[in-house]
This record gives sequence, C-alpha cells and structure tokens, in this order.
Amino acid sequence: MILDMLYPRRCTVCDRVLSMQEQYYCKNCTGTLRYIGKESCMKCGKPVDCQEEYCTDCKKKKTAFRSGHSVFLYDTSMRSSISRFKYHGRQEYAACYAREMYIRYGGWMKEIQAEALIPVPVHKERYRVRGFNQAELLAEHLSRLSGIPARKDILLRVKNTLPQKELTDKERLENLCQAFQITSLQEKLYKYWKCVIIIDDIYTTGSTVEACSRVLKNWGVEEIYFLCVCTGQSD
Ligand SMILES: [Zn+2]
Ligand SMILES: [Zn+2]
Repeated sequence: MILDMLYPRRCTVCDRVLSMQEQYYCKNCTGTLRYIGKESCMKCGKPVDCQEEYCTDCKKKKTAFRSGHSVFLYDTSMRSSISRFKYHGRQEYAACYAREMYIRYGGWMKEIQAEALIPVPVHKERYRVRGFNQAELLAEHLSRLSGIPARKDILLRVKNTLPQKELTDKERLENLCQAFQITSLQEKLYKYWKCVIIIDDIYTTGSTVEACSRVLKNWGVEEIYFLCVCTGQSD
C-alpha cells in the first residue's frame, strides 16, 4: 500500500496512475489495444489480409530464422509506451509486456521446445547510457513465466552500427551482421541447442532478428524463432 503511494502503478499504454481495480491498463486503454490477430504472416507475424499466408516481404525473402510472433501492432499508443519503457525510466512495463507475450505465445514456446531465450544485445556504450537492455528485461520476465532459461551471455553486440537510415536493405543487413558475435566464452558450451527464441521489443524490417539468427545459425543452432512486443504493419 505504502509502496503504491510512493510508486503508483501506471497504465502501460498511457502512463496514467491506475486504480486498485486496474491491473496493467487503465479502463480507457483496455479497449484500444491492437493485438495482432490470427490473420498474420506465417513467417514474420505481421498482420496480413485474410487470404494471404505470407506478407509481401516474406514472399520474397529467405531468412535464417523460421518464424516469429509479436503481440501488438506498433501504433501511436504502443510507440509512446515503448518509448517511455526504453528512454523514460518505465522499466516496470517489462512485466506487463512479458505477461502478454506469455499469455499469447507461452503454448507456442512449449510446442517448439525452445531451450533458451536470447535477448537481442545492445552495445556496451548504449547499455552504459541507458542502464539496461530492454530485450534482456523482457527475456528475464518471460523466463520466470515459462521456465525457459534467458541467456544474455551468448550474443554480443560488438560495435555501434552506422546510422541505418541511409542504407539499402541489403547494406543494412550486412552492417548489422557484423555487429553481432557469439561471446568467446560460450563458443563451445551450448552448441547442442537445437531451438532458441530471440527476444526483442520491436520487429520492423526484421533485419536485427535476421542478423542475430545468422550468427546463431552459423554457430550451430538449428531452429531459430523470435518473439517481440510490437511489430509494424507490413507494406
Ligand atoms: Zn491508459
Ligand atoms: Zn512476413
């Protein structure tokens, strides 16, 4: 109770202080959440028109990862929610996001027999400035819910990537692939893993997940999936 007064619980979407009856979202936001439904791309999980199995992007591209899911559409509300989570000290949102990921995809995580949750790493300089890695927080919460170990000691981000905006898709991916490595300590240890899930906050072009997947695949992991909080609309 006293903690609630000092650090009131807030709505994950709009940041308003919650009443006793409200758990993660205020009553105004509850109805406005845009969950990704069943009509989504079988590979990247972005929403698609009902007749389509794959989005335009996935019809064209081969990927190192098998498939993945996201919980919410990255709309205006989720954009501000994620920005408060990452840049304005609302790390507690991770519990809500992870719970949503688990409610919707906990069964799937078990079905594919994932052996580890691997958060997308951030460069150590960014870690120092921000004080945490948002993907790590999500993976830790998800690990507690699912019992699948979260392993932040596998992938390393070795350099701050160039600004991605001016690059073409292909250059962007090449640039990113060089930014991820298997940590030298773990080079031999976990090679027996067959299936892992990459965890991140937002899936947009998919190049980050793809870059991590290629590194993990080269290392010997056979099946790589991903799970994110939000995803953009497909083109
Ligand atoms: Zn709200
Ligand atoms: Zn797709």
